[in-house]
Amino acid sequence: MSLIVQKFGGTSVADLVRIQEVAKRVAKTYDAGNQVAVVLSAMAGVTDHLIQMAEVLTDTPDKRELDVLMATGEQTTVALLAIALKKMGYKAKSLLGHQVRVLTDSSSGSARILDISGDAIRDLLDKGYIAVVAGFQGSDAMGNITTLGRGGSDTSAVAIAAAVNADVCEIYTDVDGVYTADPNVVPKARKLSTITYDVMLEMSGLGAKVLQIRSVEFAKKFGVPVHVRSSFNEDRDMERMVVAGVTVAKSDARITITKVPDQPGIAARIFQAVADAGISVDMIIQNTRSGNMTDVTFTVPGADYKQALEIEKKVAEEIGAEDVAGDENIAKVSITGVGMKSHPGVAARMFRALSEEGINILMISTSEIRISCVVEQKYAELAARVLHTEFGLDKKDG
Ligand code: ADP
Ligand code: ASP
Ligand code: MG
Repeated sequence: MSLIVQKFGGTSVADLVRIQEVAKRVAKTYDAGNQVAVVLSAMAGVTDHLIQMAEVLTDTPDKRELDVLMATGEQTTVALLAIALKKMGYKAKSLLGHQVRVLTDSSSGSARILDISGDAIRDLLDKGYIAVVAGFQGSDAMGNITTLGRGGSDTSAVAIAAAVNADVCEIYTDVDGVYTADPNVVPKARKLSTITYDVMLEMSGLGAKVLQIRSVEFAKKFGVPVHVRSSFNEDRDMERMVVAGVTVAKSDARITITKVPDQPGIAARIFQAVADAGISVDMIIQNTRSGNMTDVTFTVPGADYKQALEIEKKVAEEIGAEDVAGDENIAKVSITGVGMKSHPGVAARMFRALSEEGINILMISTSEIRISCVVEQKYAELAARVLHTEFGLDKKDG
């Protein structure tokens, strides 16, 4: 007998027929003699719709209330699944975040999990119940409902798997695994039979939304085996490569401050100002100009772009820089793989492949197992396909 956590994403619970399919799959796992805790997302599109409703009322909805609102999406699906399972003759009970006791900090909309008690779930499992847990939500020390950031049900699932010491955390979604690139962008993408936590961390951080990055952090920290599976059954496979995958992220924006006086302490002021506003900076480049001037360019999350731009306009005035310009039409295209450490020339191949398609590289950043290039957003998908072919990741029959 194993203890299995099964998480079903939005498309897997998109309507009542799908919810009944989920109930059958869960029941099958239970009938095979396993204990099963299910973690659910909201029906596909529901979270977006809830946010849109709030935004009809105001451009800046109160963050606490937005969390209360968003959490209803998952409340709906857990109740429906529990109802479906009971109708099929199984013992099932739904649990909301605060009933499990998913304790988070108070950062509405992107709360971090501080602690999870496995007791409530274990208690149900030991009594022969299927536990049906609402993903994406928790509550803070004051009892306020919080949510974990978009895609956060993955994190709920892995964190719950860690809390109950599950044998495996299965993530059911609309693809049957982690691919060498988003299969919806790169049709020739191939499925990876395995991927290390570190490479998956990079890929999630770089736009592969198949697993929310925090779920991978949890999985790595607690050694939870995670299996990504399809709710709709397909199959493709591949062997090991220098580059494991290609990712695309369109969510960042670029800010350039021109003619910055080239003096010690100036860069600190530029970046301290955004840090103080809680905005994280990703890539940074500094170009030297003549006359003791530099241009400083960096990227920030799109959601923080307007605020960061305003902040830097003030800083630019204070430090006597010439101008601040921004650009939201960018995309970050990255290649990731542990094989890079031992294969020289990977970066050069990447840059050449992009240049052969006339794609200009605006910024570059690297880590031991990753190279990222910022390009114009209109080239994002083309760049992903070109790199996928260049590094031998294309399906052989495709
Ligand atoms: P769910 O609603 O089940 O959580 P998501 O939409 O959040 O599903 O994540 C699944 C999607 O992730 C896929 O449909 C696919 O388009 C996208 N994706 C991006 N990169 C990858 C990748 N490298 N491998 C697999 N899927 C990916
Ligand atoms: N329903 C939430 C979202 O759409 C959480 C999730 O799907 O993982 O972001
Ligand atoms: Mg998701």
